[in-house]
Amino acid sequence: MNIIGVDIGGTKIAAGRVNDRVELLESHTIPTRAAEGFAISIEQVWRAIDPLLSSDIDAIGICAPGPLDPRTGVIFNPPNLPGWCDIALAKLAEEKFGKPVRLENDCNAAGLAEAKFGAARGFANVFYAAIGTGIGSGIILDGKIYHGKNAAAGEAGHMTIDYCGPVICKCGIPGCIEGIASGRALGDNLDQIATRLSAWLGGVVSILDPDIIVIGGGVSQIAAPLFDRLKAEVPKWTINPFAAETPIVPARFDSGILGAASLWL
Ligand SMILES: [Zn+2]
Repeated sequence: MNIIGVDIGGTKIAAGRVNDRVELLESHTIPTRAAEGFAISIEQVWRAIDPLLSSDIDAIGICAPGPLDPRTGVIFNPPNLPGWCDIALAKLAEEKFGKPVRLENDCNAAGLAEAKFGAARGFANVFYAAIGTGIGSGIILDGKIYHGKNAAAGEAGHMTIDYCGPVICKCGIPGCIEGIASGRALGDNLDQIATRLSAWLGGVVSILDPDIIVIGGGVSQIAAPLFDRLKAEVPKWTINPFAAETPIVPARFDSGILGAASLWL
């Protein structure tokens, strides 16, 4: 099976061809041109896919920032894709390219790729977090993405851990972990950030008791000591007596292309 994986971000679109051994055969990146509106940025998506098409391509997987509905393939109105309001992206792409298309939230897709082929391979229940300029997450239960009733689950970056604090998250809620421990909080030292992430992940362990926690995004590459801190401190923030045995590991993949492709592989 040969898949085109497409990762639509607010600033760039990455697309590549992936085979069923999960090898990235070729890839490229082009600007999203999001600020120029829907008509321009959807053309950029088509331009990203077009040169990768060939007769041996079986399907296309696309991941994008939420909110979106993977069951209907509709993107609602993501803050970093202005003008993308109720866009039936999967249907539009199927009509344009004549291949079956699946659409998924980018962090859900990244979590699925880690569970199937990456750092969480062999684990059924995975909590995945991408910590970069924001904090996104995905929940994999029994090897499948947990979507929730409205396909809106897995937004753990917007759990507040400091609701009396001074920082208002861009979502409007005071003290979301995204607002106080992502790249936006870089003015704070890593010590404070590690404590906040530990409190947050302790809550995650209390509610999910996952087999493994995988952390991707910019932080996973620049802050190796962070993982030692999290392993030591997360157990202090949960009543789960087995928390110290829960592995907390860096993600294997740094490309959303494999996440998008994993929707089919
Ligand atoms: Zn928030």
